[in-house]
Amino acid sequence: MRQKTRRILLLVSLLLFPVTLNFFSPYVSIDGAMAGVASGSLLLFVALAVGAVFFGRAWCAWACPMGGLAEYGRAVNDRPVKRKPLAVLRYSIFGVWGAFVALGFLMAGGVKGFDPLRLTENLVSVDEPVKYITYYLVLAVFVVLTLAVGRRGACHAICWMSPFMAVGYVAGRWLGIPQLRIVSEPGKCTDCGSCDRRCPMSLPVSSLHKRGAVRVSDCILCGECVDHCPKKVLRYGVRGR
Ligand code: SF4
Ligand code: SF4
Ligand code: SF4
Repeated sequence: MRQKTRRILLLVSLLLFPVTLNFFSPYVSIDGAMAGVASGSLLLFVALAVGAVFFGRAWCAWACPMGGLAEYGRAVNDRPVKRKPLAVLRYSIFGVWGAFVALGFLMAGGVKGFDPLRLTENLVSVDEPVKYITYYLVLAVFVVLTLAVGRRGACHAICWMSPFMAVGYVAGRWLGIPQLRIVSEPGKCTDCGSCDRRCPMSLPVSSLHKRGAVRVSDCILCGECVDHCPKKVLRYGVRGR
């Protein structure tokens, strides 16, 4: 039931993507920065970082439109990915993008204000036919990467939002703030590997949980491991550090 609900929420978010696209756009952030304003997308990225202090990357599993695309892509290619090289690529892309945003603000003389509806004055991102080109391009990149690389391949390879959440998660953990986590009773584990096989983020859950909780910023709190553990070793819980 939980996984069905999650997939329905992701599908709704994916269907709304033509409306919400600009609020996830790295381009809109740069455009706003060059005008000296924090655009809707930059504000959303910061909000995701703040949310991650308490809820980790639950956004990715429960609400992100591209996460919906990645999730449904598993029906075609469910191969686990090699996370480390993809993380290097992802953080490199993030670094270049962040440099452009910083340069934009620098050239504009700093942050002078906020413009949440920048380039989205009609409240709808794809408000004229030509903008479908961007929309389909974004979809195509995510679909191709997911199908070519494997399980949530685009999330691992290029997502410019996940570093924000990783920063929020690590900061919350470092400060000892109680965070939503997957917690466990390791003594009950039979090492069957079911959690590893189900994890959409290709995490080695069966070893990660052995210290009482899964503590990595790549966990998106989807609950697949919880729902497929035959021994009920795993559950949602709140933990500091
Ligand atoms: S990693 Fe990025 S694209 Fe993937 S679900 Fe999370 S926010 Fe969305
Ligand atoms: S599914 Fe449960 S019992 Fe099996 S390895 Fe994972 S935590 Fe252990
Ligand atoms: S560890 Fe569990 S909750 Fe976290 S991403 Fe993997 S399956 Fe989902």
